[in-house]
Amino acid sequence: MEFQFGEKEERLRTEIREFVKAEMPPHYIGKYFEEETNDEDWAFSMAMSKKLAQKGWLTMSWPKEYGGMDASRWERVVFAEEASYWGIPGLGMGISGTAWVGPSLMLFGTEEQKKKYIPQIATGEPDGVWCTGYSEPDAGSDMAAMQTSAIRDGDAYVINGQKVWTSCAHYARWLWLACRTDPEAKKKHQGLSLIIVDMKSPGLTVRPLENYVGGHVFNELFFKDVRVPVKNLVGVEGKGWSQLMTALSFERGTAIGTTASAQRLLDELVIYTKGTGQIKQPEIRQKLARLAIDIEAARVMAHEVVWMETVGKPVLHEPSRDKAFGDMLQEKLGRIGSDIIGVFSQMDPAAYKNRWSRLRGAFEHLYHYNIGFAIAAGTTDTQRNIMGQFGLQLPRAY
Ligand SMILES: Cc1cc2nc3c(=O)[nH]c(=O)nc-3n(C[C@H](O)[C@H](O)[C@H](O)COP(=O)(O)OP(=O)(O)OC[C@H]3O[C@@H](n4cnc5c(N)ncnc54)[C@H](O)[C@@H]3O)c2cc1C
Repeated sequence: MEFQFGEKEERLRTEIREFVKAEMPPHYIGKYFEEETNDEDWAFSMAMSKKLAQKGWLTMSWPKEYGGMDASRWERVVFAEEASYWGIPGLGMGISGTAWVGPSLMLFGTEEQKKKYIPQIATGEPDGVWCTGYSEPDAGSDMAAMQTSAIRDGDAYVINGQKVWTSCAHYARWLWLACRTDPEAKKKHQGLSLIIVDMKSPGLTVRPLENYVGGHVFNELFFKDVRVPVKNLVGVEGKGWSQLMTALSFERGTAIGTTASAQRLLDELVIYTKGTGQIKQPEIRQKLARLAIDIEAARVMAHEVVWMETVGKPVLHEPSRDKAFGDMLQEKLGRIGSDIIGVFSQMDPAAYKNRWSRLRGAFEHLYHYNIGFAIAAGTTDTQRNIMGQFGLQLPRAY
């Protein structure tokens, strides 16, 4: 086993750290789902997207012809680690142009779609901001139960139905929509399609949906006879399920980032407890050590997946294993951090600029938002089901 990055990767790491020093506010700590919660953070995030695009880092994994850098798998690991450790915002271009809309269009999109949408994402333009419409009130973990329909009428699809939990829809220019183009299909996984929808379309209503601490991350979308040109169909009509599975696999490989942001919070806790003198208490040191062990385990598992990809081994249940482990790690980190910060962790996560807030409100934010983190991109239970079925060859959960 070789646990070292090469010279090229380490040079990139240094360059990213210099970028962070030059472009980010001092002592900045990134927080999940913060970018889309208010206009100020969103503006900062979009300004950073532009700078990341100029460096070539926004879409570094993409081929050069699509505005990427053709970065190696290990360069991407270094970038994901550093970006998450320092909390660089603006990498997703909404939910999520860079991670799955762009790569899916490269695989399934028409030439016209590739020419129109991919450069908007790669250059960090506001027109490259996407939201993703999969979930519905009665179709979450069981996504194939979706009912929103897109029925062909001449040269358009007419869309009716409702989506829910649509992150970033209040800033997005485009919607990556999964819907039912054949309501008569015999099986629920059949007759589904992916369609690009202009968020300015008449008949489409975006209603804010605040989370339980008042944060506006996601929305409900209502479609009333929304007409979308047939040329906005992505891939093959009715074959959306397999395309969706590919898009979801792009979404779930996030363990590198989760581990690095957990490492940053642990490092901050160590500095904090040294400052307050709490580090002298053995039970505090025990808690910090417990986190360090979990983070190290998470890092090794995340690196294993990358290694498997680079040597051509099939990756099946491993990203689900890592997402489930990451969910549990974040929960533990939120609890232990809040415990250590004590009464200061009882602040409203939105009030992190208050003088009573500690560490930029990172722990009250994590404590409350981790619940969403563990649900988004497939709940921890869903990941365990995948692990059981493909990792342990147990019978299907449903
Ligand atoms: C922060 C956040 C952002 C999101 N952003 C988006 C977005 O941009 N676009 C989008 O389309 N969706 C988004 N979602 C929605 C997300 O994908 C769904 O919430 C998720 O798929 C779960 O669906 P559900 O909420 O309907 O819960 P359900 O599927 O109803 O699950 C409820 C509970 O039952 C458990 N459960 C369900 N089925 C099983 C099973 N077979 N075995 C064991 N346990 C099971 C689940 O683990 C969960 O604990 C977001 C969610 C969050 C929290």
